Order: sequence, then C-alpha cells, then structure tokens
Amino acid sequence: MAIKTSEKEKPAGKKGRKNFNAGKNARRLELIQKKLDAGLLSERFPGVSDITIHIIQFYGITGQVFMERTVNMVPGSNLYLLHIPCMEGNCVNGGFDLTSRIEEMVRDKKKSGKGKMLCEEKDGSGISHASVSYDISIKYS
Ligand SMILES: [Zn+2]
Repeated sequence: MAIKTSEKEKPAGKKGRKNFNAGKNARRLELIQKKLDAGLLSERFPGVSDITIHIIQFYGITGQVFMERTVNMVPGSNLYLLHIPCMEGNCVNGGFDLTSRIEEMVRDKKKSGKGKMLCEEKDGSGISHASVSYDISIKYS
C-alpha cells in the first residue's frame, strides 16, 4: 500500500523534466569546474588593474536588442568572466569568449576596443541565433 502511494506522487510527465534538470546540472558543474581551472585576472594579466566590458546582446544577427550587461573585473576576478554567456534561452554550448580579444589588447597596451561576435550555436537555417557587440575598457596599473 505504501509503495502505491509514493508512485502516485510522481506523475508521468515529471520524469522527463527530472532528466532534463540532471543534464542541466551536469552542465552547470562542468562550468563551475572550468571556472575553477581558469584562474585569476592578476595571474594571467599582472599589469591590469581594471577591465570593464559593456555587452549588448542581439536577437540573431539583427539589430534588435535582447539585453545589455556590464561586466567589471578587478585583479581578483575569475578569468572565466571573459566567457560571456549567451542569454538565449535554449543555448547550451554557445557564448562569447573575449579572452583572446583581451590578450590582444593587453599585448598592444590598448585602453579601449569595440567589436562584434556571433554565438557559436546556430539556428535551424545555419545562422547564429545571437550576436553581441562589446565595448571593452582596460586600465593598467
Ligand atoms: Zn547562444
């Protein structure tokens, strides 16, 4: 009797959702690990005292704004912050990695830089489902 009761508490539709969450949690753990492995800004760029990144994310390759964000980094910040997540709801493996852009700027001692980037995930017609424009300011110590 007790077993029957507990079975009733799990409606059929819930199992799929549970598996979906398990996948999502695994992905989240993977991201935490990557973040731990990334190290600190001060370790990779010792001469940098401050980085500000202003990001505007667009729907697909249109000019329609999806959202805006600002990322501030100090020497104690985790380098993984340079992996700007794609905020498109279904995006799993995409995102915008500004690491190499920052490397170039620091190498050339540039204080500011602008650019655009496409999410690596494509929609059904092979077009990137999201793009960003970024505006980076770097302060050196
Ligand atoms: Zn994406």
